Amino acid sequence: MTNRATRPLVMGNWKMNLDFVEALHLVQELGVVMHHSPLEHTDLVVVPPFVDLRTVCSVVESEQIPLGVGAQHVSQFESGAHTGEVSVSMLRRLGVSWVIVGHSERRTHYAMSDEVVTATLATVVGAGMNAVLCVGEDEERRQGGEYRSFVGAQLASALSGLSDVARSTVTVAYEPLWAIGTGVSASVEQIEEMGSFVRSTLDDLGATGSRILYGGSVTEENAGVIATIGTVDGFLVGGASLRASSFLAIGRACDDCYAGKR
Ligand code: PEP
Repeated sequence: MTNRATRPLVMGNWKMNLDFVEALHLVQELGVVMHHSPLEHTDLVVVPPFVDLRTVCSVVESEQIPLGVGAQHVSQFESGAHTGEVSVSMLRRLGVSWVIVGHSERRTHYAMSDEVVTATLATVVGAGMNAVLCVGEDEERRQGGEYRSFVGAQLASALSGLSDVARSTVTVAYEPLWAIGTGVSASVEQIEEMGSFVRSTLDDLGATGSRILYGGSVTEENAGVIATIGTVDGFLVGGASLRASSFLAIGRACDDCYAGKR
């Protein structure tokens, strides 16, 4: 973050945690702190379960909390016979402006193929929403040394449905599967290497303006060190986004780093 002029982004993926009452409490707590001591340089986004979105969007709007709101997934289709799915226009109508596309849990446990990721990304970007495309290798590919080619192929496939201009609007989250929810983050060297690799791959694909996030067991303890690496522009945070204090501490680490205080 020290080398780039890109405004950091910290996104909290709540996954299947917090019902709408708990969501209300967390967002209100975030709002109190953010009004009192705002982050000057860092964009913060919360990504609750679908059923919380209406409550969260209403509070963010009525209390003017400087928080973006995102969805964890969306359908590639606009409407119709797609039981259990939600469309981009439904999300937009609520005030949701971000969507995570291709999170590894959707790819691994809900059979989201590369083709569906490509189509979903095109739908999200086509609707003028901010997409966060998740890529990352599993433990086996990491051990086998094919992690770069695997991530490169995921990026090329996902962006293939977009024009060059549209590609640069996509934020990419590099999230190695072996670091997600394990309590063991990738090392600084590994994040630095993959941050540069993703950047050069995006440059080759014409996505020169994309933000790059790192995700995988980011905590308030390790965020400061990772934030100074220079090849990533922020974080996608799971577990540590469920408490206001740890989520905001991660945001603050990015803010301080961007302002040159680290
Ligand atoms: C995630 O779900 O994208 C994630 C990075 O989770 P955690 O921070 O809990 O590893």
